[in-house]
Amino acid sequence: MTYSWGDSRRFNSYKRFLLQKFGTRVQKLTIDAGFSCPNRDGTVGVGGCTFCLNDAFNPSYCSPQKSVVQQLEEGIEFHQNRYRRAGAYLAYFQAFSNTHAPLERLRELYQPAIEHPLVKGIVIGTRPDCISAEKLDFFAELQKKMFVSIEYGVESCHNATLERINRGHSFECACEAIRQTAARGIHCAAHFIYGLPGETPTMWLDDLATINQLPLNGVKFHQLQIIKGTAMQHDFETNPADFFPFTQAAYVDFIVQVAERLNPSFVVERFAGEVPPRFLYVNNWGLTRYDVVLQQIEARMTQLDTYQGRLLK
Ligand code: SF4
Repeated sequence: MTYSWGDSRRFNSYKRFLLQKFGTRVQKLTIDAGFSCPNRDGTVGVGGCTFCLNDAFNPSYCSPQKSVVQQLEEGIEFHQNRYRRAGAYLAYFQAFSNTHAPLERLRELYQPAIEHPLVKGIVIGTRPDCISAEKLDFFAELQKKMFVSIEYGVESCHNATLERINRGHSFECACEAIRQTAARGIHCAAHFIYGLPGETPTMWLDDLATINQLPLNGVKFHQLQIIKGTAMQHDFETNPADFFPFTQAAYVDFIVQVAERLNPSFVVERFAGEVPPRFLYVNNWGLTRYDVVLQQIEARMTQLDTYQGRLLK
């Protein structure tokens, strides 16, 4: 069976999206361009989000001590040796908040990626309170030349949770950034975390009615990963009853329910997160890699004969 997104996989996959868009296998190259974060440097707050330890989220080859060009070249070499199949690359500015600088500085930092012959697009990870009309106009202009995607960390639809995790912005702020981005025709994705304290699976499934109404192109879902040494570890130790630490099997079941309620036009960029186990304070998933979890999710969908958006009218 071919689903509305154009292939037989039971969800609207990022792999299919990229293959259709670029006509070849595309690999993301993660770049740390040395940005800071307004939730750490005092612009919005200090201390950062309670779950955050950027070292845990970045691949080893990327470091702000290296220039963007060097990171691109090393990333391409790494992926060519490992996979050998990518025909094009996306520069993924992932670490911290990649629009947290004046526009002129952003232009300088992005330029090596924009000019690189093998880089066909840029993906910008940032906070929704770290964007402006001026910056979005720049991205809207840039996307006439290459693919541009902006990924906003939304994390939760609930302001009480956002306050508890010291996020420093509201859900309404995230919705507005998404709308402003979509209004310029820029590919826009949002990141959500399942497992934040005080929330429940019922809330997350209900939230999809709201998320489905946002003008998004893509979504990323992560299970909460409690990283050693973070404020989240302390919150977990102090208030364990407020947490819902998914086992891997429970998460697979849960995320299939999410997919069944998810707008089928949204490309699923990730269903789960992956952090090197040495960083984890709570690790009830063992050493399982994301590709194995993804296989389990698809197998569960097949077993239930279900697919993305099945429960939507
Ligand atoms: S998660 Fe993002 S916004 Fe929050 S502290 Fe870390 S880098 Fe800053």
